[in-house]
Formats: sequence, structure tokens, C-alpha cells
Amino acid sequence: MADDSPIAAPGAVRSVTSLSNPTIKEIRSLALPKYRKESGLFVTEGMKLVADAVEEDWPIKILVYGAKVASHPVVRRVAVRAHARGGEVLEVSDAVLSKMTRRDNPQMVVGVFEQRLTPAASIRPSPRGVWVALEGIKDPGNLGTIIRTVDAVGAEGVILVGDTVDPFGIEAVRATMGSIFHVPLARLSVAEFAAWRKNWPGIVVGTHLSGQEDYREVPYDRPVLLLMGNEQSGIDDSFAALCDHLVKIPQAGRADSLNLAIATGVMLFEIRRTELKLA
Ligand code: SAM
Repeated sequence: MADDSPIAAPGAVRSVTSLSNPTIKEIRSLALPKYRKESGLFVTEGMKLVADAVEEDWPIKILVYGAKVASHPVVRRVAVRAHARGGEVLEVSDAVLSKMTRRDNPQMVVGVFEQRLTPAASIRPSPRGVWVALEGIKDPGNLGTIIRTVDAVGAEGVILVGDTVDPFGIEAVRATMGSIFHVPLARLSVAEFAAWRKNWPGIVVGTHLSGQEDYREVPYDRPVLLLMGNEQSGIDDSFAALCDHLVKIPQAGRADSLNLAIATGVMLFEIRRTELKLA
């Protein structure tokens, strides 16, 4: 049953109907990489995703919900938690939600969260763990899909290497379907990655269209670091040199290559299959 009693302490929720409200403008500006970089914040849309993140204690800065869903029990619970953790809570009109999210049919709940990256020194694979390194990935949909797949397969994290798309951009975040909150992410320069790789305790497997090994025939001794190449140019030679194995996924038909996210999914499930066979 809908609950119409106040959500939290008086003054905890601000009602906003003005399209020129400064907080709404600030949230809108987070669509731009420059403002995400300056603020260290990012936007997530959708009641379930925002609720899951808040329940897992991801630091929330601003919670915005449509007045229409103010009495929804999940919204009420999230609003109380967000306020208790020092977040700002705004109840807004549909027009404000549309303007803020640049959508005609916006989600009714939007959260602004702190970005979190794992420093290289804190990447500690478990003895049977799998991490994915992405060299120069450029497509936000691919990145979000890979983060979601890493989560689904039970791998441990993703390392973005070199000049890559921003994982906290709205398109990448949408494509993760919430996995951005569950999968540790690190960002390393090419030089940092090459230095860090020297201490990787297991094997490094690169995927390459001219790889000499069939991806089904490699002994995936754990922990595994899986290295995937850029959408246009594939794995650079300097990265290929860092790999213990260069594998190919054999293809039929006339396509030159697989989509990067699909190739990552094929590899990760193959690596997991070998783990299941060992168990
Ligand atoms: N023109 C690029 C090239 O020459 O590598 C194609 C890059 S492909 C779209 C993006 C990445 O997906 C590759 O760098 C590789 O990591 C992976 N990939 C795609 N298809 C693959 C296959 N059949 N075997 C191994 N890796 C593949």
C-alpha cells in the first residue's frame, strides 16, 4: 500500500519544479566528460539500480525521484538511506526529470554517485581469479557490456589501459545494468600496465586475430589475466609481447572479426568452463 507520510525528517527532501534549479543543472552537466572528471561523480538511472547501489553503501551524493513515485516503498527506503548518509534528496516534476536526463520518457529515479577506481597496487587476484584488461577500448556500449559480462561470469575486475572511453559516462553505465557497482575497475597508463604486469602471479592471455593458439586449447592456469584489443586496431604489438599466449577464436563465414564485447564473453565463459571441468 502506498505510504504518504513524510519520507524522513522535515527538510530532508527538497521539492524542485524549476528547470533552472542549480542542482538539476549540475546533474545535467555530468553528461559531459569534463564535469565528470572535475567532480568525480557520475549518474545512474533506474529505481532498481539506484536502490541496489545505495543498499550496498556506494557513496551517493544526490538522489532524485519523480513526485509520482514518492510513495513507492523502494523509493522511500532509498530516500531515507541516502539522507542518512549525507546525500541530498530531491523530489521533482516529470518536466525536470526529462530535462535533467535529456529523455522524453525518463526513469523515475536517478542517483548521483562518487566514482570509484581501484589503484594498481590494490589489484589482488584471488588464486583462481580472472581479470580482464582492455587496451584502448573506445565504445561505451562495449565497455558496459564487458563489465556486465565480467560480473555475470564471476570474474574479478576490469583494467582499462591507455586512452579509453570513460566507464562513468551515461552510455557505459547504462550498458552495465548495475554491474558498475559490483565490478572493481582500474585505469592504468600503458607504461603503468607494462610495469604492473611483471608482477602478475598467473598467466596473461591475449586475444589476436593472428593468434597461433586455438582459444579452446590453452591451459588456463589461474589466476588469468585476459587481454583484449581495441575495436579498430586490435592488440598493439607491444601488448602482444606482454602475453604468455596469443589465442584466436576460430570463425566461419566472412566476418573479419567478432565484436569486442562478444569476443570477451566467449573467452570468459571458455575460461570458466575449464575451471568447472577442473572442479
Ligand atoms: N581489426 C581489428 C584487428 O585486426 O585486430 C579487429 C579488432 S576486434 C573488433 C576487437 C578485439 O576483439 C580484438 O583485438 C580481439 O581482442 C578480439 N577479437 C575479435 N575477434 C576475435 C577472434 N576471432 N579471435 C580472437 N580475438 C578476437
